[in-house]
Amino acid sequence: MKIIMLGAPGAGKGTQAIKIADKYGIPHISTGDIFRQNIKSGTELGKKAKSYMDRGELVPDDVTIGMLLDRISEPDCAAGYVLDGFPRTIPQAESLTRALEERGEKVDYALDIEVPDANIVERMSGRRACPKCGNTYHVVYAAPVMENICDRCGAELMIRADDKPETVQERLDVYHRQTEPLIRYYRGENILREFDGTQELEKVFQDIVEVLG
Ligand code: ADP
Ligand code: ADP
Ligand code: ZN
Repeated sequence: MKIIMLGAPGAGKGTQAIKIADKYGIPHISTGDIFRQNIKSGTELGKKAKSYMDRGELVPDDVTIGMLLDRISEPDCAAGYVLDGFPRTIPQAESLTRALEERGEKVDYALDIEVPDANIVERMSGRRACPKCGNTYHVVYAAPVMENICDRCGAELMIRADDKPETVQERLDVYHRQTEPLIRYYRGENILREFDGTQELEKVFQDIVEVLG
């Protein structure tokens, strides 16, 4: 099963993608996590991505598309995957469609998690992320068992540099300009499914499972 997560920054894509990956036994591929790992280990890719990410802008397509297409060619992707944070532009979506078509494959579902902008800043200000395994928490809505410690791997949680309110606003603007058009694109492909992301996160997941089966 090949799944794409759509939705504003902070809508809950990562949270739901990890639950989907666990339930259906497919890898969770987050382009944001891949960039952050590359920044941490100081690679060329990380150096290219960092300034864009710090400003809340998108990393250019020529960097991002090749990286993602390489990743989904790896053996663990043979039975499918859930993409979290890709595609984010129409050219990214078209490249993905073309690359899959060449192998006689296609995306099965684009899951759009809808959350109004007004809720996003509050979500982001409480977000805590695990730098080691990528799991995401919220100080109020999804608190870890032990304060500031990842339930899954025991690492100390951190606040993402781009989760400060000014950058969140820029990321929301970028989302509306560059990423929201994908909703129409995937509706046109007949694979769009929409979810009310303001619900409690287990309820959002139930709704998703109803669609995926
Ligand atoms: P969020 O979880 O808030 O949606 P991500 O972790 O997905 O954020 O992305 C963080 C940043 O990484 C983005 O603001 C952007 O700079 C960069 N990024 C991630 N995925 C992409 C992509 N597909 N295209 C361009 N930039 C990306
Ligand atoms: P995205 O990947 O779309 O940027 P995340 O999955 O990282 O979003 O979620 C953003 C923040 O909101 C995190 O702190 C997460 O724990 C929290 N969150 C996710 N889903 C919900 C929900 N349904 N209700 C309340 N908070 C949520
Ligand atoms: Zn962890």
